[in-house]
Amino acid sequence: MRLYSLLAAAKINLYLEIVGSRPDGFHELIMVMQSISLCDRITVRSIGVDEIRVRCDHPLVPADETNLAYKAAALVSDRCPGVMAKLGGVEITIEKQIPVGAGLAGGSSNAAAVLVGLDLLWNLGLTRIELQELGAELGSDIPFCVSGGTAIATGRGEQLDPLPGIDNLHLVLAKYESEFVSTPWAYKTYRAEYGDTYLTDAQSWQQRQSQVRSGEMVRSVAQRDAKALGQHLCNDFEKIVLPAHPKTAALKETMTSLGGLGTLMSGSGPSVFTLAESEAEAESLATRLRAALPDPDLGVWTAQFVSGGVQMGG
Ligand code: ATP
Repeated sequence: MRLYSLLAAAKINLYLEIVGSRPDGFHELIMVMQSISLCDRITVRSIGVDEIRVRCDHPLVPADETNLAYKAAALVSDRCPGVMAKLGGVEITIEKQIPVGAGLAGGSSNAAAVLVGLDLLWNLGLTRIELQELGAELGSDIPFCVSGGTAIATGRGEQLDPLPGIDNLHLVLAKYESEFVSTPWAYKTYRAEYGDTYLTDAQSWQQRQSQVRSGEMVRSVAQRDAKALGQHLCNDFEKIVLPAHPKTAALKETMTSLGGLGTLMSGSGPSVFTLAESEAEAESLATRLRAALPDPDLGVWTAQFVSGGVQMGG
């Protein structure tokens, strides 16, 4: 086939703890990641010329070699010398639904879809692990975005242990279009303010991991206890992002006041989600949120938990 269409799922963090600072300069993390049904459509199409092209109509997403989707294609072509000369280059089309710079791994999910799509288009026969290893070279969230579902992510986020999926959990997600958080800024600021609380050695990191693995959040997921899960949501980034973004802090307060199972900022923000037990409850929360904050700058979506990262898109 000369064209594949894939759906790249966004992720939210149900739990995000910054544990320490690694010798490689990255942060040591413990996260519980969850794929959601909000997704971008990525199409990879063979073209006659030996090059990589990116098309994306979103004004905030570069359609050049700085796009993570382009970087993923360049990496695959680099590791499979001659593949483009033999089979032709690729045109990648990105149809954005996932808000940009929102803490939802939009770019990472696009890169994951390109890895999966090129494996098919160029008939490479790569295993899922090989795709994830390639992804890890480009970004820490990409390995999770390949497989998706529910997982504990440790290390810099690339070491994954799948958790049993929680079906039928829904959410309302909101983000002010004008608010952005740069992930590098968030890590830098967190280090400046909380660096003195970091655990400093690998043994302490392991101990902390064991505590989290046997802790309330992971137990709630394992027992598919939606109410308990909502009560144990946690994200260290809230400590520095919310004070710097009062509009997002007020959004979180409003969303919390509307009820639901629990409310949290995702990743480095500034998107905020509230969990809901049913689609009807998520829709009701969304309606009440729009009524409480009638601001055209506020984007509001509903979605549900899904069990995969990249899916064939028909
Ligand atoms: P994460 O949760 O992984 O930190 P994010 O959801 O906060 O990511 P993205 O939507 O991935 O942020 O966008 C971050 C930046 O990356 C933006 O400034 C955007 O211009 C750039 N970018 C590069 N490629 C892409 C892509 N394919 N999709 C979205 N943004 C991209």
